[in-house]
Amino acid sequence: MTVLRAGSATDPGMVRSSNQDAVLAEVTAFAVADGMGGHAGGEIASAAAVESLRRSLATTTTAEGLMEAVRQANRAVSDAADGDADLAGMGTTAVVALLVGTEAGDRLLVANVGDSRAYIFHDGSLRQVTEDHSMVGELLRDGSITAEEAVHHPQRHVITRVLGTSPDVDVDLFELRLSEGDRVLLCSDGLTNEVSDEEIIRVLRTIVDPSEAARDLVQRANAHGGNDNVSVVVVDALITEPLSGPVAIGTARPVGPVAPAGIDKGDESWFARRRRLGMRRAVTFRVLFFILLVAGLAYGAVSFLRWYSNANYFVTAKHGQVVIYQGRQGGLLWFQPKQVEVTSSTLTDVPPAFRGVVVSGVDEPSLEAARTYVTKLVAGYQPTPTPSTTTISGATTTNPGG
Ligand code: MN
Repeated sequence: MTVLRAGSATDPGMVRSSNQDAVLAEVTAFAVADGMGGHAGGEIASAAAVESLRRSLATTTTAEGLMEAVRQANRAVSDAADGDADLAGMGTTAVVALLVGTEAGDRLLVANVGDSRAYIFHDGSLRQVTEDHSMVGELLRDGSITAEEAVHHPQRHVITRVLGTSPDVDVDLFELRLSEGDRVLLCSDGLTNEVSDEEIIRVLRTIVDPSEAARDLVQRANAHGGNDNVSVVVVDALITEPLSGPVAIGTARPVGPVAPAGIDKGDESWFARRRRLGMRRAVTFRVLFFILLVAGLAYGAVSFLRWYSNANYFVTAKHGQVVIYQGRQGGLLWFQPKQVEVTSSTLTDVPPAFRGVVVSGVDEPSLEAARTYVTKLVAGYQPTPTPSTTTISGATTTNPGG
């Protein structure tokens, strides 16, 4: 099980009027996007990419899913630019981290397009995980320029890969095995162009809370000039799996295109997936408790209705005979009244003035009370010898009784 905790901060900086960066910091998915393009393009591009990533990554648990999420974000940015001349050519970087479970255990995967960066801070040292897709980055990797020269290189802002400008995008993928206490830093170039590695290390070593650390790094970028928008996500590994096997602690290695077969978790169980994603078991019990509560309430409601339905009797006439029913007249939902007694009295035994009332039904609280009612009703009344000539309603006269 791996449990992560993240904090983020983003700021327009001291020079720019708008913030074209965007950040994502969910439970297992994190991203920084640095947008570019005239008018509002940069802002729209990074926001579209992050919103697309947020949606895709909410249900993604595999490396192939992460790659597809980045390709989907690429389409989302170009779709947002479609048909709007002002937005033509807008694009964004994206550095994305996602916690996934593999056969070998939990891994933090990092996907990258552009010159935003992911770093891992392990055991007091900081190492850049991603490679910059920039002119300067390529020259550096070639050995054409030194790191010192790169910092002030006139073309250090020119990036060679971006989301949103082409239907296809080449995505780098890296795999991190985290150990407890490791911190992963995602940031836009607004941080790294202003703040030295040493200063970043000092912050990551001393500020424990990831949100505070992210805010502090942003403030430092601004204190050094804040020439660009600056965005930071700090992801802390609070709990990790015990380390075993040959992979070195905190190793970052490019894994390139990923064969989905190796780590597709499509058939893993619901419980296994929750365990892998570090979701607390307590939530499961809470859900179970809620289901039981709802079931209990439903059972209680039905029981009450049954009780309420049965706690009533009524006297009425059926085929000329006075009978007693248990239940509510006309029924209550699916609880229909049932006949519980046929009395020895016929409707002709009932005084004419009461026959209509009896036919339409007389409620009594108990069987005993219903019997008493019938007894009292017929007591002392002598039916006429020709009951069929009585002048009350047809319903009663057509039944001369038994
Ligand atoms: Mn930037």
